[in-house]
Amino acid sequence: MEKVSAYIHIPFCVKRCNYCDFNTYAGKEDLIPAYISALCKEIDRVSLNFSEGIEIYTVYFGGGTPSLISPNFLHKVLMSLKSNFSFIEKVEMTVEVNPGTISLNYLQQINGIGITRLSIGMQSANQAELDLLGRQHDYVSVVKTVGLARKAGIANINLDLIFGIPNQTEKTWKKSLKKAISLKPDHLSLYALTIEDSTPLAEKIAEGMISMPDDDLEAEMYEWAEKILKQSGFKQYEISNWARRDQYIDYRCQHNLQYWRNLPYLGFGAGAHSYFNHMRWENKKQILSYINAINGEDERICTIHPAVNIYSELSSTMEMGETMMMGLRLVREGVNLLDFRNRFGKSVFDVYENEVRRLEQVGLLQIDDDRKRICLTRRGKHLGNQVFMSFLGD
Ligand code: SF4
Repeated sequence: MEKVSAYIHIPFCVKRCNYCDFNTYAGKEDLIPAYISALCKEIDRVSLNFSEGIEIYTVYFGGGTPSLISPNFLHKVLMSLKSNFSFIEKVEMTVEVNPGTISLNYLQQINGIGITRLSIGMQSANQAELDLLGRQHDYVSVVKTVGLARKAGIANINLDLIFGIPNQTEKTWKKSLKKAISLKPDHLSLYALTIEDSTPLAEKIAEGMISMPDDDLEAEMYEWAEKILKQSGFKQYEISNWARRDQYIDYRCQHNLQYWRNLPYLGFGAGAHSYFNHMRWENKKQILSYINAINGEDERICTIHPAVNIYSELSSTMEMGETMMMGLRLVREGVNLLDFRNRFGKSVFDVYENEVRRLEQVGLLQIDDDRKRICLTRRGKHLGNQVFMSFLGD
């Protein structure tokens, strides 16, 4: 059976954050019941095409703000998945939550329906930084949410943090990360802030009202984080991700590992992406267009369902390039040379001899001693984008 991950997109937020360009909408909560029905219908339709020979390996409710959805609705979507697909025995099931938006009762209920992992958008412990980002919570609500999640029996907790925030200093970053560590999460994701066009933050920067921290400071923040997280017992497994892990436990995010290993996933909901059977597709982004398309019989661009907006078939060259690009993000695991050959019938060196040798010479890539895998070097980790571009092709 082929292991496939399922991503469920929840495109609702109470208010848009100042840096956000995700596919999410504020003030549309009245559409939630119709959206949940559309999700279940999409799951039915996709399973008609693809349920044979596959097992759901992970489920991830991302957003948006999935914690705006009641446990009953989350359960309805899970039941729909379970009635249409086989599941592996122990499925990692994640829900993204915003601090301060959920009660103990909510967490107990989602734990009861099988949610095993919570990803909490902490972002910073500094109130001025949270205000600048337009977040709706404070650090105290993060502490409270982590405490309630533990009490409810959620074993695997991730905290998301952002560095490189305008006006952020080394001191405030260190304080935020130390406070995050003090909450004893099992997993940490640290993302450098990207300023997306047309966001309120981009406008403030363009108007000269605020300025970005310089690249050197951002690099120092990252390096310091690597050091303190290692000292605190976290193992880095991806450029932006750390987890507690030993011979008994493994809190790496199995869902995201599926993406980084370039393995198949089915995405459901407005704007969700899927990669399966050498095909990639993306659903209509707007909530109402998605709901109407799923419920109607609009003209289709492919046989999957009428809410698909973009569809493409991938050549083996594209899949190999993406496997290199994504796999190299995994700092220890890298790209496994035998897996690559088994999957594509060619070795990494048959296809990328020149690129690998060149990147090796400039100290960005390394092949391990027993020639089992290719990974980024320490320097390569800091210049990852340069490495990834080499495998993108024309
Ligand atoms: S909570 Fe997340 S998805 Fe919603 S607006 Fe903020 S950053 Fe975007």
